[in-house]
Amino acid sequence: MTTNVMILGAGFGGLELASLLSERLAGDVDITLVDQRDAFVFGFSKLEVLFGRRTAEQVKVPYRTMRTPGVEFRQERVLALDPATRHVVTDAGAYDPDVVVVALGADYDVAATPGFIDGGFEYYTVAGAERLRDELEAFRGGRVMLAVLSIPFKCPPAPYEAILLLHDRLVGRGIRDVTDLHVVTPQPAPIPVSPQASAALERAMGERGIEYTTRRRVYGIDPGTRVARFKDHDEPFDLFIGIPVHKVPGVLSDAGLADDGWVAVDPSTMRTGFPGVYAIGDCTETGIPKAGTFAESAAHVAADDIVRTVRGSGGLAPGGTGLCYLEFGSGQIGRVDVDFYAEGGPTAPLLGPSSDYVAEKAEFGASRRARWFGA
Ligand SMILES: Cc1cc2nc3c(=O)[nH]c(=O)nc-3n(C[C@H](O)[C@H](O)[C@H](O)COP(=O)(O)OP(=O)(O)OC[C@H]3O[C@@H](n4cnc5c(N)ncnc54)[C@H](O)[C@@H]3O)c2cc1C
Repeated sequence: MTTNVMILGAGFGGLELASLLSERLAGDVDITLVDQRDAFVFGFSKLEVLFGRRTAEQVKVPYRTMRTPGVEFRQERVLALDPATRHVVTDAGAYDPDVVVVALGADYDVAATPGFIDGGFEYYTVAGAERLRDELEAFRGGRVMLAVLSIPFKCPPAPYEAILLLHDRLVGRGIRDVTDLHVVTPQPAPIPVSPQASAALERAMGERGIEYTTRRRVYGIDPGTRVARFKDHDEPFDLFIGIPVHKVPGVLSDAGLADDGWVAVDPSTMRTGFPGVYAIGDCTETGIPKAGTFAESAAHVAADDIVRTVRGSGGLAPGGTGLCYLEFGSGQIGRVDVDFYAEGGPTAPLLGPSSDYVAEKAEFGASRRARWFGA
């Protein structure tokens, strides 16, 4: 008897899980992969769009090109999920699979920061990256504030990558000396799990004259007077870039799966408290940062548990591992190999930065694309 597996969300985690189950359970499972969009975009491609290296069209990988055996992709929006019965309702129909894997990522709550919609910019969506790209074209200098508006947020290095690449862009345009760059974050360090990577990023910002404020939060902005509101004072800006407040997709809170803000799972299996319902990636809370590389690692854990359930035997991947590339600007990329469950505590050494990792990062993306889309 075949097992029907339904994967909700064809992002980093959902695509990895679909390809793993296709390889390992061929003939034993029917996999339905659902996403509201028509194309996948790597998170890091948003930086490429922001800095005009590639267009939005060029970074899209259309789902219709997917050739994964045993996987049927459906472009549908998930409207409701009953985790007790595994009944899924989409805008095109209803399903009752044997196994449901929730991989819906994190949504942005831009309205949570007063003034942000009217007076701020973001690059965490493709449309936002295009809008900020155009704004930067017109920018002639002034005070730029880049603020992390809440924790957790996707890809801890992304704010620092953006500011270092922005520095390069402003130097190239001859307006760096008339521009102040300032990063504000509630976190104590750029990459808390990696003191080495944090020190390297802080050094890189210091060398470039980028101001860096930790343990502070911007609660809102006033688009009229162009000031950012901190708890006890205001600071002026000419261009405000925010890493938006993140939230769990509404369909998951409505389903009662995210009572503590994110979906709770057993990190050793990625099972939720409901039989046959798993969750992986950014929509979950496991104590590990939100990033594609960790969504991929979680997909391996869930795949092992599903294989073990279907076949009756097999081991479990430990999870919590990831490989992060950090753009330092000037054509330099660093690599951090993270293992959150290493014996003796998390390890996250930094390799580089060096130009050697430019090709390796490109290969990281190309290899995922080949594995997930067969192209
Ligand atoms: C600027 C930037 C740079 C980044 N750089 C990196 C990096 O270098 N390395 C790295 O590892 N990570 C990086 N990330 C983070 C990475 O993109 C995410 O952490 C990763 O995509 C999470 O995977 P996921 O599968 O959990 O969710 P996602 O990849 O976000 O996938 C969720 C999917 O669910 C779909 N969905 C949501 N709601 C519904 C619904 N109701 N119905 C149907 N479909 C729905 C969405 O359309 C989406 O395709 C970056 C992110 C950003 C913004």
